[in-house]
Amino acid sequence: MTTDQVSIYSTASGRRETLRPGPDGTVRIYFCGPTVYSRVHIGNARPYVVFMVLKRYLERRGLRVILASNLTDVNDKIYVAAGAEGCPSREFAERMSEAYVADTDRLGLGRPDAEPRVTESMPQIIALTERLVEKGLAYQSEGDVYFRVRDFSRYGDLSGRRLDELTPSDPGEGKHDPLDFALWKGRKKGEDAWWESPWGPGRPGWHIECSAMAADALGDGMQIHGGGIDLVFPHHENEIAQSEAASGMTFAEIWMHNEMLELSGDKMSKSEGNIALLADVLDRWPSEVVIAYFLTSHYRSRLPFSDSRMEHAEAVVERLRNALRTLDRAAAAGGRGYDPELAAAVVDARQRFFAALDDDFGTPGAFATLFDLVRVVNQRAAGAAAGADQLREVRREIIDLLDVFGLGSIDSDPLPAVPSEVTDLLAEREAARASRDFARADDLRASIAEYGFDVMDTAEGPRIHAR
Ligand code: AMP
Ligand code: ZN
Repeated sequence: MTTDQVSIYSTASGRRETLRPGPDGTVRIYFCGPTVYSRVHIGNARPYVVFMVLKRYLERRGLRVILASNLTDVNDKIYVAAGAEGCPSREFAERMSEAYVADTDRLGLGRPDAEPRVTESMPQIIALTERLVEKGLAYQSEGDVYFRVRDFSRYGDLSGRRLDELTPSDPGEGKHDPLDFALWKGRKKGEDAWWESPWGPGRPGWHIECSAMAADALGDGMQIHGGGIDLVFPHHENEIAQSEAASGMTFAEIWMHNEMLELSGDKMSKSEGNIALLADVLDRWPSEVVIAYFLTSHYRSRLPFSDSRMEHAEAVVERLRNALRTLDRAAAAGGRGYDPELAAAVVDARQRFFAALDDDFGTPGAFATLFDLVRVVNQRAAGAAAGADQLREVRREIIDLLDVFGLGSIDSDPLPAVPSEVTDLLAEREAARASRDFARADDLRASIAEYGFDVMDTAEGPRIHAR
C-alpha cells in the first residue's frame, strides 16, 4: 500500500491529516499513560486500547511503528494516597505501576515498545529542564523552576486559547507571571520521595515528564501524540511549549485524542469516584468483550459504560464466534465446491475493513464490514456450493481481520476435530439408511451423540457438527 491512504483527525488542525512516517520510515507514537495513585479504571483503558490497536493496524498496513507510553509515578496524589496507607510513596507507586501493567496485560494486546516511568527518567527530565533554563525560557525561583509561557509564541495553538483568556490554576508564590507553570517543584514538608537537582531537592512537574520521556523514547519529534481529550489543556499545550522550545522542532505532527468514557452521564474519573476498575470489569467480562466494547464505538465519540453496553459487546463477540462455528461445521461436512459469491464477499470485506480504518481509525465501520461478511457466511456456508477448503480459507480470513483488533482469540474454542470413530459410525449409519434400516440408523445416531456430535441429514447428504 501507499501510506498516504491513512488519515487521522488531528486536534491541532481540526481536520483529518494524512499520516506520513518519519524520515526513517518509522511512525512514532506516544500516548499519555496513567498517574498511578490507584488501580486504573475502565476509562484509563480507552487510550490504551485505542493506541495499542492503532499500532497493530498500522503494522498490518506495512508501517514500522514505535509506540511509547509513560507511567506517572511521582505526583501529589501519590504522596497523599501512600500517606493514607502508611506506605512509603516510592513503594506505593511501584505497586500501583505493577498493577497497571498486570491489569492492562489482561487485555491481551501486548505492551507498548517503551513504558518509561518518571522515577527512572530523572536525569533526562533534569537535563531538559536545564536546557530550557539555559535558553532563557525557564527560570529558577527559590527551589522551583518555571516555564515562561509568554515567551513561547505558539502557546495556545493546540487548544485554541488566547493568553489573555487564560486564568492560572495555581497562582504560585515565586512565579514571575501567573501563567507560568512549574517544571521543577522544590521539596515540601512531608514529601517522602525527592531527587537532587541543580535547583535543590525536589521533583518534576507533570508536563515536563512527558516531554522528556517522549524525547528519550522516540527522539525529537513524532508522528502521533495521543491521550484523552481531557489532556489538551494544559497538559499537551505545555508539552508542546517545552519540547518545541527546547528542540526547535515540531513536537507532534498529529494530535490524536480519544473522547471520554462516561459513567451515568459524567466522565469516569478517579477524583470524582465514579469509577469501575479495569480489573473488576475483566473479572466479569472476557477480554474480547471488553475490546469489542471499546472498538465498536469510534474513539472520538463519548462512550457510556453500562451493563447493557457490555451485553451488547458480548453479543457482538458471540455473533463472530458463531460464524466461525458455522464455518467449522460446514467444513467438517466436507465437499470440494467453490462459491464465487462467498469468495467475492471475503475480498470486499477485507478491502472495506481497511478502508474504514484508513479513514480516521474507523473501527465501527470495520466491525460493520465484518458483520456484512458474517451475514453472507450464515446464508451461504451451509449451502452445497462452498467446499471444505474454501470454508477453511474464509475462516482464516475472518480470524486474520479479527487479529488486527487483538480479537484473534475469539477462535480459542474451535470445535473439536471429528474423531475417526464418529466418521466410521456415520458411514455405518449411511449404509443402514441406504438399506432402509431406520431403527439401526437411529441407534447409530445415538452412538454418535455419545461422542458429542449431531447428525443433520441434508439434500447434500449428512452433515455433522459438535453439540
Ligand atoms: P490519568 O491517570 O487521569 O492522567 O489518565 C491516564 C490516561 O487516561 C490519559 O490519557 C487520560 O486522558 C485518559 N483518561 C482518563 N479518564 C478517562 C476517561 N474517563 N475516558 C477516557 N480516557 C480517560
Ligand atoms: Zn503526557
